[in-house]
Amino acid sequence: MKIEELYALLRRRGLLWPTAEVYGSAAGLYDYGPLGHALKRRLEMAWESWFLGLSEDYYRIEPAEILPEPVVRASGHLANFTDPEVSCAECHASFRAETVLEKVRPVGVDGLSSEEIGRLIADNQVRCPSCGKRALEVPRPFNLMFELDWGAAGKEHAYLAPETAQASYLAFPRMWDVGRHSLPLGIGVIGHAYRNEIAPRQVLFRMRSFTQAELQIFFDPEHFDLPFPSVADERLPVLRASDRARGLAAPELVSARALVESGLPEFYVYHLVQELRFFRDVLGYPTERIRLFEKSESERAFYNRIQFDVEVNLESLGGFREVGALHYRGDYDLRRHGEGSGKEIAVTVPDGRRIVPHVLELTVGIDRNFWALADLGIGAEGERTLWRLPAYLAPVPVAVFPLIAKAHGTEARALVEELRGAGVPALYDAGGTIGKRYARMDEVGTPLCVTVDGETLDPAHPHHGTVTVRERDTKSQERVPAGELAARVASRVKLPRAVMAS
Ligand SMILES: [Zn+2]
Repeated sequence: MKIEELYALLRRRGLLWPTAEVYGSAAGLYDYGPLGHALKRRLEMAWESWFLGLSEDYYRIEPAEILPEPVVRASGHLANFTDPEVSCAECHASFRAETVLEKVRPVGVDGLSSEEIGRLIADNQVRCPSCGKRALEVPRPFNLMFELDWGAAGKEHAYLAPETAQASYLAFPRMWDVGRHSLPLGIGVIGHAYRNEIAPRQVLFRMRSFTQAELQIFFDPEHFDLPFPSVADERLPVLRASDRARGLAAPELVSARALVESGLPEFYVYHLVQELRFFRDVLGYPTERIRLFEKSESERAFYNRIQFDVEVNLESLGGFREVGALHYRGDYDLRRHGEGSGKEIAVTVPDGRRIVPHVLELTVGIDRNFWALADLGIGAEGERTLWRLPAYLAPVPVAVFPLIAKAHGTEARALVEELRGAGVPALYDAGGTIGKRYARMDEVGTPLCVTVDGETLDPAHPHHGTVTVRERDTKSQERVPAGELAARVASRVKLPRAVMAS
């Protein structure tokens, strides 16, 4: 589906819409409607269940989303969290350098200096995307953080958090104190990040306020015991930086064992497998749509020692787009905050060494994956449009219809209440023909529709006490005793793995 078509469908069904729509909307901001919110929440629950379930020592916290200036100075965001911005001398429009150079340099401009980008623009005679003139200037760095006046005097500054990760680093000393004094220790956050994007676009892919789900694992690089043999045979669709340098563009399926033999640490590959499994097995993305894209030394931030981005191939966005990542950040973060605060952040490990823990960061973009689920899942099948969404992510797992509202409405409503009582979000719908009601639910990914009819209520009929359950994907129907429905639906919408921590 094209981007406009998909966005129109999501708007029409009230899953999301632009913020401040009556004022002509605000670029890069979106509101989630009832169904969108429900899906987003299911996605967040799936993330929590999967990633915090990796260890009993991984916890979720809920930090503030405003950071005082010393924090972003120490983290490097004040000096370096910039995007090269190109302005047009003729029409004064501004663009991200990456956007104006998209055709010339599809891999992006990460790691290039302003001068190098300016030269690329000049050498390729790149024109202003807005007025078409050759008047683009040498780019200047534009800081992406939203700055706030702090307190009434306004003399000090604070910033809306540009990423959720900083909060986890700041929480580490306290979490160590209140916890079991052992590594690895995982701190997870699902929260908003705020970025003053030069050119927000592609709906949920470049927003000014968005939701990140990140797990920071603090560990001792000399002792990180993991059951690596249990994942050694898993095959991962990787595109190595060295292969790209040789001109390869397609990912290759390589076993976890082979990746370790090529020099990547076991702890890194183990978690790369866990990320892959989340996207493939929990969110249901087809393997052939996923690639694990290794960033080269010049492409990644200098503090990242190893970086693979998780990318999915999305028709609406014309190719592979980043939806998650795995960063090995070394001891950069805790060291910087130790220096910035003047308080050493280090711990003593069982053999007596005093160490600054290293950090492995597992990132998932919630909004981007919301979009990816829609892109990969929504499609036409004959006359109908359906969203093949895993049952546990469906905003409405089950809908209940009375065949005729006047005759069967009371019983259908009672069934809805029974389902809700069993913890299953259920929806009552009596509007239009049964066919129309199926179509509405197919479009928002509801896996099961239940119809109460005359036979359900007729004590003389062999189908007395049963309802018709219809499956979204196969359109198959069967009669099921109404009393068994709640248990049946509950088992279908159960998350793939229970949270072991917390
Ligand atoms: Zn222009």
